[in-house]
Amino acid sequence: MANSALDFSAFSPSALSAEETQLIEASVAQFGAPLLLLDCDVVRQQYRALAAALPNVTLHFALKPLPHEAVVRTLLAEGASFDLATSGEVDLVASQGVPADKTIHTHPIKRDSDIRDALAYGCTVFVVDNLNELEKFIPYKDEVELLVRLSFRNAEAFADLSKKFGCSPELAITIITKAKQLGIRIKGLSFHVGSQTSSPQKYVDAILACKIVMEQVVALGLPALSTLDIGGGFPVSYAKQVTPIDEFCAPINTALASLPETVQVLAEPGRFIVAPAVMSVVSVMGQAEREGKIWYYLDDGIYGSFSGLMFDEANYPIVTVNQDTLCYPSVLAGPTCDSIDVVAEHIMLPKLTNGDLIVARMMGAYTSATATDFNFFKRAQTVILNEVCIAEQKLG
Ligand SMILES: *Cc1c(COP(=O)(O)O)cnc(C)c1O
Repeated sequence: MANSALDFSAFSPSALSAEETQLIEASVAQFGAPLLLLDCDVVRQQYRALAAALPNVTLHFALKPLPHEAVVRTLLAEGASFDLATSGEVDLVASQGVPADKTIHTHPIKRDSDIRDALAYGCTVFVVDNLNELEKFIPYKDEVELLVRLSFRNAEAFADLSKKFGCSPELAITIITKAKQLGIRIKGLSFHVGSQTSSPQKYVDAILACKIVMEQVVALGLPALSTLDIGGGFPVSYAKQVTPIDEFCAPINTALASLPETVQVLAEPGRFIVAPAVMSVVSVMGQAEREGKIWYYLDDGIYGSFSGLMFDEANYPIVTVNQDTLCYPSVLAGPTCDSIDVVAEHIMLPKLTNGDLIVARMMGAYTSATATDFNFFKRAQTVILNEVCIAEQKLG
């Protein structure tokens, strides 16, 4: 996947407010740097915004972009459901008291132990996209209901998940026919249009293609499908502004309205719920002048919280606590001894002193989740903010 350090020509991130600066400095005074500040209020706002934009859709938060206990607790209190892919994710939701009937398991390729772990917890909905996987459910046919995942390619997304997973509509019919013979219940269809999808048309096309498969299933005399899972992929604004979520979802709702009323619709949002909820705070460890630029060496980088620059192509807005207006061409480098560990190569910054703090916004999705402790640099600690919802506290 393409990695280049952040390109700053495209935007000027909003400066820190006095309140934010105070919070950041107090947090670093208490816990040290680097830190990730996770604001549960933002998780709530994002969940509520998407729930309002997709009023007839059950939202299953996909744990993968930020598998954090506080996120699970916050969303559980909001009434959310959950999308699991591994036994580790099963353990996490189980440890937080999530009822199993609020979960689905959507990894298209599983070991028998993955299926058994999820079933032992009580999760009974799984995903398949091929006949080999379908046969894994023969021993569990009385306990499970399956979704068949279809593939719709999307070259524009950050991650085109339909390259690795999903089947054609024709193969879906073959799987559903075979399932009937094997006595395995097929609950419905699913897809994932790709993460950070910029156009709702991808969802609309996929929904209409699924509708045709559902009609074929009925025409073939197979049991009617009751569920459509429209996956994740809902976009957030990094360097580039994206369409506001209610506007983005309007054509999706129109397409969904063309399905039979009996079809229950689910979605599996990940990034949208958590990306804006985390701010990364790093400090300058040292500095050097090289080829007319000031290089600042930070205590977090590509192998840590900024791993999304590698794996996710995200462009995180960066601001300094120091708000001097006189700026110099600068480079932000991570702490490891590897030369690819550069966070931003073309950035104008005020003159910084060792120990000065730098903040990156929009760091909640696919950041700490993919961090390593390469070179023994410890991963950033997470500080949880606003976990208790004020409104709830009042309700007692
Ligand atoms: C990663 C993933 C998601 C979440 O996708 P986002 O783009 O973060 O919303 C949902 N469902 C499945 C099956 C996934 O693999």
